[in-house]
Amino acid sequence: MKILLTGGTGYIGSHTAVALLEAGHDVTLLDNFSNSKPAVLDRLHTITGVAMDFFETDVTDEAALTEIMKQRSFDAAIHFAAPKAVGESMEKPLHYFKNGVGGTVALLQTMADHGVRNVVYSSSATVYGFSDDLPLVEGAPTVVINPYGRTKLMCEEILQDLCRADERWNAIALRYFNPVGAHPSGLIGEDPQGVPANLMPFVAQVAVGRRPELTIFGDDYPTPDGTGVRDYLHVMDLAEGHVAAVEHLASDPGYDVINLGTGSGISVKEIVAAFEKASGMPIPTVIAGRRPGDGPASYADANKAASVLGWRATRSLDEMCADVWRWQSQNPNGYGD
Ligand code: NAD
Ligand code: UDP
Repeated sequence: MKILLTGGTGYIGSHTAVALLEAGHDVTLLDNFSNSKPAVLDRLHTITGVAMDFFETDVTDEAALTEIMKQRSFDAAIHFAAPKAVGESMEKPLHYFKNGVGGTVALLQTMADHGVRNVVYSSSATVYGFSDDLPLVEGAPTVVINPYGRTKLMCEEILQDLCRADERWNAIALRYFNPVGAHPSGLIGEDPQGVPANLMPFVAQVAVGRRPELTIFGDDYPTPDGTGVRDYLHVMDLAEGHVAAVEHLASDPGYDVINLGTGSGISVKEIVAAFEKASGMPIPTVIAGRRPGDGPASYADANKAASVLGWRATRSLDEMCADVWRWQSQNPNGYGD
């Protein structure tokens, strides 16, 4: 298949590009570099031996998307491009609606105009909010807890309406749990700008000496060790989940929504211990109060991905930590400037 990856130089997009090429597909990447670096393209070339077909484009720019569609002929798109910081979404909701929702509509419109009606969409487990009813099945109620989550839910609904209105469309919304890890080469990985908002990149920066200690947000949750529990999955497993999803589009499934997670919950303290083991470095921690908006636990029921896509996560927590450490220790400042 020939596949357009919006947000293709980002964390998940870049790993998915590798997995798609390995599976024998052709990829074209599009990104505006708002949260990624051009250096990713050289790293992808080194890993895959393929010079990336790339457009520096904003996904909200319909005229630019039209030019790309005229120059290439795609079988499907995987739509990653969107800003993703929960806190920022509360400060700048319009930025999130313009890029997250507006970008999706612009992409779908240009796809429709050029007869491309297969899309995989990056949704998130954030659409479930927090529930006591675990593991989370796709039919669980959705709850919006911030504008970022609303953009994800709105885009899912747009895709569902589109598939209802025109049966030629196929769309799979993938609800990711907590992607971590890096390509085993250590050449690409997660490179957050500023202070990392997420646990794993923060832990990695403590291990490499960029930050003195990890603040654990709450040790009084009703979880086995009191710290928050999440479903961490290796980004290469996630990337392979996209290969399975985009290939599944060829069977004309209409609209579907599928969790991508391991199905197991891991606590903050377990992450810290696993990372200390993988890196051989101490991770000093301090306990602070709960982070606003956080809940105790979230993990997937991963059975639908297995039955519909034939996909299951296979990589262990030790492998996730070892691969993050290889990326972080080889690139202490990420992709640099
Ligand atoms: P990322 O920021 O690394 O990648 C997103 C890419 O999109 C970046 O390279 C950025 O420059 C680009 N981009 C953003 N707005 C754009 C625009 N208007 N036009 C063109 N390019 C644009 O993030 P990621 O972790 O790779 O996430 C990819 C997708 O997966 C996002 O939609 C995100 O919401 C979703 N998601 C991520 C997680 C996670 O924990 N990483 C979890 C659930 C869902
Ligand atoms: N967390 C933490 N310290 C940090 C960042 C995160 O203790 O510096 C905790 C957070 O409270 C949650 C878990 O780590 O229990 C995962 O947080 P992350 O932001 O990575 O994922 P999300 O909460 O969005 O699922």
